[in-house]
Amino acid sequence: MTAELWARAKINLTLGIVGRREDGYHLLSSVMQSVSLADKVVLTRLPGSGPKIELWSNLPYVPRDSRNTVWKAVQAFSEHTGIPARVRVAVHKAIPVGAGLAGGSSDAAAVLRLLDQVYETRLSAETLTSLALSVGADVPFCLTGGTKLAQGIGEVLSELPPMPFCHIVLCKPPVSLKTKDIFAAYDAQFEQGPASQTLSELEEKEARLLTALEKRDLAGVAANLYNGLLPPALARCGHIARIMAFMRENGALGTMMSGSGPTVFGIFTSRKRAEQTAAKLKTKYRETFVTNPTRPNGSGRADR
Ligand code: ATP
Repeated sequence: MTAELWARAKINLTLGIVGRREDGYHLLSSVMQSVSLADKVVLTRLPGSGPKIELWSNLPYVPRDSRNTVWKAVQAFSEHTGIPARVRVAVHKAIPVGAGLAGGSSDAAAVLRLLDQVYETRLSAETLTSLALSVGADVPFCLTGGTKLAQGIGEVLSELPPMPFCHIVLCKPPVSLKTKDIFAAYDAQFEQGPASQTLSELEEKEARLLTALEKRDLAGVAANLYNGLLPPALARCGHIARIMAFMRENGALGTMMSGSGPTVFGIFTSRKRAEQTAAKLKTKYRETFVTNPTRPNGSGRADR
């Protein structure tokens, strides 16, 4: 039996670090938004018995072993259900890797849903969320996507009004920023925890952004984007500030970095403007895309 799902990328409209747990995990507050750029994940249940994971990806540099998030998701499913999953998973990557767009997290979330389907396990939303969290902090959000406030380490999710329709240009500079390094640089900056000034800026922007979502006010959303990880990322990658400035000069209502970077996104009302800006950026930055926000469980069209 074969089943497939689109695994969508996400952007962070806001991302603030609000504290740290004793085990070192960062406590976050983030408005997350799924977008139409997607990997295609195809899962086939293999005949025979005993556990087996065969992984395939169109990108040779994506690991095909236990380092892959997909592998981790299959193992988490098998351990929880007691079913020795025997599957082949093909991941057709379209989401840039190591980009701050949760590509690996989204693949893992898709695999959990596909396993639930092909093994007819009917896992509850709570169980899926806890399996997802065991793979990574962004995976619970990726199970459904849409527009959500993520808190805790990513597992406390609240549904928000959908982001108004718009065109979102994604541009990834040709560098990889390791999530771990960016958080370490952030921590070094605030050894005693986030400065109160930073927290109040986050709270203010987040509150305004939530109000803008309720009012379906795209300009209000675009004016209140926030990412606490931007300063350490800017210090390591000069492209980020240049891309943000270029998007603004070309009519973006707002721009920000997604996650721990280095991908920059820009929000546009005009599709033409978005496409023109993306075309110009593409001459320098190959991994540039025009996408749209998607709703929870966004089926239908995906950009490839
Ligand atoms: P996040 O926004 O959740 O931090 P990201 O977009 O920054 O994620 P990914 O694209 O998920 O980062 O990849 C980060 C690392 O994980 C890469 O070095 C990659 O080799 C590895 N990896 C493991 N599984 C996958 C996968 N399924 N797809 C892409 N990369 C994967």
